[in-house]
Amino acid sequence: MASGVAGAYYGQSATERASIVAKPFEKFSSGVKTRSDEKNFYVASNGLPDHEMMTGITAWQQQVPLPQKYSGNNSWQFPLFPVPAKEPMSAKTNFFRGAIAIAVNGVPIFNPIKNDGRTDTFLAGELDKWGGHSGRGDDYHYHLPPLILQEKLGKSLPVAYALDGYPIYGLEEPDGSSPKDLDVFNGHSSASLGYHYHATKTYPYLNGGFHGEVTERGGQVDPQPRAVSPREATAPLRGAKITGFKTLEVGKSYSLSYSLDGQTSKVNYQINPDGSVKFDFVDPSGGVNSETYRGKPERAGGGGQGQGGQRGGGELGPPPGPRKPWYVDHAKGLDTNKDGEVSKQEVTDQCKTAFKEYAAGVDLIIVAELPDKRTVRNEVGGFMKVHAKELDQNGDGKISEAETIETMLRMFDKQDKNGDGKLSGAELEG
Ligand SMILES: [Zn+2]
Ligand SMILES: [Zn+2]
Repeated sequence: MASGVAGAYYGQSATERASIVAKPFEKFSSGVKTRSDEKNFYVASNGLPDHEMMTGITAWQQQVPLPQKYSGNNSWQFPLFPVPAKEPMSAKTNFFRGAIAIAVNGVPIFNPIKNDGRTDTFLAGELDKWGGHSGRGDDYHYHLPPLILQEKLGKSLPVAYALDGYPIYGLEEPDGSSPKDLDVFNGHSSASLGYHYHATKTYPYLNGGFHGEVTERGGQVDPQPRAVSPREATAPLRGAKITGFKTLEVGKSYSLSYSLDGQTSKVNYQINPDGSVKFDFVDPSGGVNSETYRGKPERAGGGGQGQGGQRGGGELGPPPGPRKPWYVDHAKGLDTNKDGEVSKQEVTDQCKTAFKEYAAGVDLIIVAELPDKRTVRNEVGGFMKVHAKELDQNGDGKISEAETIETMLRMFDKQDKNGDGKLSGAELEG
């Protein structure tokens, strides 16, 4: 096995390797631009495929596909020469945020499992016929390997690259035979391809983790681009089924149809030259409610929890880009006794103080009211205002003290890499 891994790239220069990696992307060159340097391969796109989207979704969050700016510093990237990891990381217990692979048409592929760590997005009806849907940044992404791309690629080229740099082939080998002896991540080695992953029809569907080295930060592969929507995240629309999606003008205007209780409604939307987006919500009788969203200036900092936020559904939001984990950014203010470490007690105490002041005598804080309250001057107080919806774990529109503490300690545990119950040393370095 090891010999196959090394053999595949032995003696290749970065330029030679890049030209091989670029081949499948070239089949989609109208929507994807690639480049490389000595270390990495970069993929720029607007994140939208040239096939139909959204149709077939039966569990819809009311998000739609909007073009994204995955270019320049906000491009996708993976190593040209993948390096087998000493301790390969599973996507069963990690990487529930952001992408784990990039399809060769420039559309990101997220973990098939949602951030609750168990829901299979495919089995839950959240995906369209092509294995994708829109996240809460109105960013289209797949959760399954896009085998439709094989119409252009054939079987001999990969449909995607995992973010560790290893390619993902379809259900078959390039010669049409069935892949043999796949490991737990759906990968194996061959003399001609080295280590590579395959698509499968059941979990893990694609790379179920990373055979190669990746950097994990804030629960996702880092770095990776950030998706942005001009509007706040929307809520699930129970019982709705998406029945049609039309691209009226590529990159500019779209029409989505859905049925609910036997009646058809539409969401027509148009992207204006200034980046604002006009939505026409057409009800079954033809009545139109129009809204134009212009977006807010991007917040600086803020921590790796995404912005706005639906609860429950989907991943924890658009990839937040290369930022420091919230606990690293806010360590100084959290270290109340100034001993250079952040303890669970310090965090819990801040939670209690912030909750008490916001709640002002009641047991539950109403999510919608929190942003307008006078900011409680501690670190958790700042976090609560910006991430109110994420704190509402049971989705009842209210936040309890227990939900606040639970959310903050769950983030704490993720940052507490050695599990000793305090954040110190390397755990507090960006
Ligand atoms: Zn998703
Ligand atoms: Zn194979």
